[in-house]
Amino acid sequence: MPTPSSTFDPAVRHYSVIIVGGGQAGLSLSVYLQQRRIDHLVIEKNKLVHTWNDQRWDAFSLVTPNWQCNLPDWPYRGDDPHGFMVKDEINAWLAGFVEQVRAPALEMTEVQRVSQPELQAPWQVETSRGLYTADQVVVASGGYHVPMVPRYAERLPATVTQVHSADYRNPAQLPEGGVLVVGSGQSGAQIAEDLHLAGRQVHLAVGNAPRCARFYRGKDVVDWLADMGYYDMPVTAHPLREGVRDNTNHYVTGRDGGRDIDLRQFAKDGMALYGVLSGYDDGAFTFRPDLARHLDDADRIYNGINASIDKFIAAQGLDAPAATAYEAVWQPATEHTTLGLAESGITSVIWCIGFMPGFSFVDAPVFTGRGHPVHLRGVTGVGGLYFLGLPWLHTWGSGRFSGIAGDAQYLAEQIEQFRLKPASGRALAADACHEEAMDPA
Ligand SMILES: Cc1cc2nc3c(=O)[nH]c(=O)nc-3n(C[C@H](O)[C@H](O)[C@H](O)COP(=O)(O)OP(=O)(O)OC[C@H]3O[C@@H](n4cnc5c(N)ncnc54)[C@H](O)[C@@H]3O)c2cc1C
Repeated sequence: MPTPSSTFDPAVRHYSVIIVGGGQAGLSLSVYLQQRRIDHLVIEKNKLVHTWNDQRWDAFSLVTPNWQCNLPDWPYRGDDPHGFMVKDEINAWLAGFVEQVRAPALEMTEVQRVSQPELQAPWQVETSRGLYTADQVVVASGGYHVPMVPRYAERLPATVTQVHSADYRNPAQLPEGGVLVVGSGQSGAQIAEDLHLAGRQVHLAVGNAPRCARFYRGKDVVDWLADMGYYDMPVTAHPLREGVRDNTNHYVTGRDGGRDIDLRQFAKDGMALYGVLSGYDDGAFTFRPDLARHLDDADRIYNGINASIDKFIAAQGLDAPAATAYEAVWQPATEHTTLGLAESGITSVIWCIGFMPGFSFVDAPVFTGRGHPVHLRGVTGVGGLYFLGLPWLHTWGSGRFSGIAGDAQYLAEQIEQFRLKPASGRALAADACHEEAMDPA
């Protein structure tokens, strides 16, 4: 169904541009295409910007400070730029964006296949409401597609409730008893905290996620990193290059005004910590003996980020409160490598181990063997096909509120140029992607 605010005409089946996905990325691009008067259609399989409502837990708050919420012509408008919006506030702010953009959008319509029968022919966009065609297609279907759950999860008895982080809402959704949270990235660490604060017995399988301080030397660490230029650094200048796209996010929270997440403190307060979960057999979970190493590594990264802030403060001659060093408040006495399901009282498991890419609906030779698109700043080697909204598509903020406007504006420019000179545009894109694919770094 078209959105109430849209200018969508159901009789039109061909567009200059079709955007797959009506999240913040797809709508940001719509803003810049409207400015250029390029006709387009956003096709969204659910409701516009629904992921912020449907795939976040009840106590969710932004990890990034409000001032980083900066969509095209739609900055954060509240009176707490250094605070962290909670779920309802985020959804209200996004509802205003949807209303302002008035994107030509078709909601509750799934794109099932995107293909180009031959070079320079229009793209065919097969949907649950029939066929559309377009000169150019932008895939803005998000960066978190297929929830990952290991195969051994099938061996858990049916009496154990299993939930992926995308479906976790609140502690009351789970049966009484202990909860095993698997994974300690941003979602896992925050969900473990949510359950811990609710008085549940939490068992946490800790992975290799790094952590960072919330505040250091008088400011939010995000503010320091912004001052240091980190958020402007393109992926091509990052020491890990495209490899940074595989990194797990640092765990820290914006909850209650923002604070560190210190797993050692959780352990001191009664949470049971383990290394990486490696399997489930004969009624017992097995873990790798790597808890101490992961806790130490996370602290090393935490201290390293703080040290880089110290260096910046010194180099700039800034006046900032004195440096404080983190002191580990707890050490694992032993590495527990097995945990019996019955003895532990665990009745539910929450899988917080991430997502796999889900671009199988895109039929074009632009993917790596792991299903990720090869692109340079969203421009693929196949003329007229683009990606937008992926983590580190161009900068750290590409998959977030802070960087999407810049990426969308850039793609709108590329789309306009391709309209004027399709052949040269394709050649440029192919060259760029070939270089990226060949680069050994
Ligand atoms: C737990 C979590 C916490 C986060 N915290 C922050 C934070 O604090 N700050 C921050 O800036 N960012 C944060 N992010 C990252 C980011 O802002 C979000 O992932 C954001 O939703 C990305 O917007 P998007 O438009 O690229 O993708 P999405 O919001 O995923 O939108 C993509 C849309 O495409 C649609 N779609 C997918 N496939 C199809 C199809 N085949 N046909 C039609 N439609 C389709 C989907 O239904 C969806 O609506 C967080 C992400 C997660 C998962």
